[in-house]
Amino acid sequence: MFYHVKDLQFDAKVSRPDPRFASLLLEQFGGANGELAAALRYFGQSFAAKNPYPDKYDLLMDIATEEFSHLEIVGATIQMLLTGINGDLKNAAENSEIMQLLKGKAAKEEMIHRGINGEFLVASAGAPAFINAEGAAWTASYINGDVQGDLTSDLRSDIAAETRAKMVYEYLLQFTDDPSVKETLRFLMTREVAHFQMFQAALESIEPNFPPGILQSDPRYSNLYFNLSNGNDFRGPWNEGPSTQLGETYQYIDDPIKHVLETNGLRNQEAQGTDRTEEAIQKLNKKMSDIRSAQVNNTSPMQDMSWNKPLTQEEIDNTNGKSKPFKSTPSKSNGNKKKT
Ligand code: MN
Ligand code: MN
Repeated sequence: MFYHVKDLQFDAKVSRPDPRFASLLLEQFGGANGELAAALRYFGQSFAAKNPYPDKYDLLMDIATEEFSHLEIVGATIQMLLTGINGDLKNAAENSEIMQLLKGKAAKEEMIHRGINGEFLVASAGAPAFINAEGAAWTASYINGDVQGDLTSDLRSDIAAETRAKMVYEYLLQFTDDPSVKETLRFLMTREVAHFQMFQAALESIEPNFPPGILQSDPRYSNLYFNLSNGNDFRGPWNEGPSTQLGETYQYIDDPIKHVLETNGLRNQEAQGTDRTEEAIQKLNKKMSDIRSAQVNNTSPMQDMSWNKPLTQEEIDNTNGKSKPFKSTPSKSNGNKKKT
């Protein structure tokens, strides 16, 4: 259940109304990388995690709830930035000729022509709306792909999403001079940086976490680099030396057309630069299937289901024992080459 506290997580302040900046800030209220998207993404991911991975459920619910708190901060800031609009719109009869002369007509025309989101003027009437800075309605399409019933996938989506949210705040900071608003934006930006690391640590605590899911990759193709863009070619750790997760040696295919023809469309491709064998992979597929399937099925009985289920201290200790501490060399620590 949710319980609302009327104080904001961060005490948002605004020096003076600024409906134009409010229009830009909508991006973090109803935009693709905004706070509503973040809150619902983690909330959605939490359901499948609850029984098998109660520690990750705890993390997802803590951060989802914080994102709802951010949504509230952004909404409150937009509302303060729009101060005056709703009241002016209530002066619908415009029965005061003096008001009309002094500010009414000119002020309203200026609003239309000065980059203020039209929704504020003719629909929400000076209140936040679930649209982005350009007025496009929020859609679940922003986040549906982020819930995949597998934490090794979901947490990677979360790390990417936190990256994007951080960048939007960074760009927004360049469009306001209000020191109070800047402080709020800096807080919100900072929390995305914090969340990035939390999701990364949670991913690292799952071993193995690569490749995402259960099935291993085909060793004939997992370390091939196709030079498919001709001229100004570069070599780097993405196409030479060992691959970051599986530790296989990259095979650089300088002439992909020739290579594809010579290998009968890669069907005759042989595994090179890897010690992973088909037999070992099939074994690992079976082992991973058994482990991960049991993790879910053993914690999710098929009858007499109940969502409210306080964990025993033993269950909490067991779960904590399964989470390994974060290692400082992530690129090498989360491969599974040692286990194959
Ligand atoms: Mn946030
Ligand atoms: Mn976040």
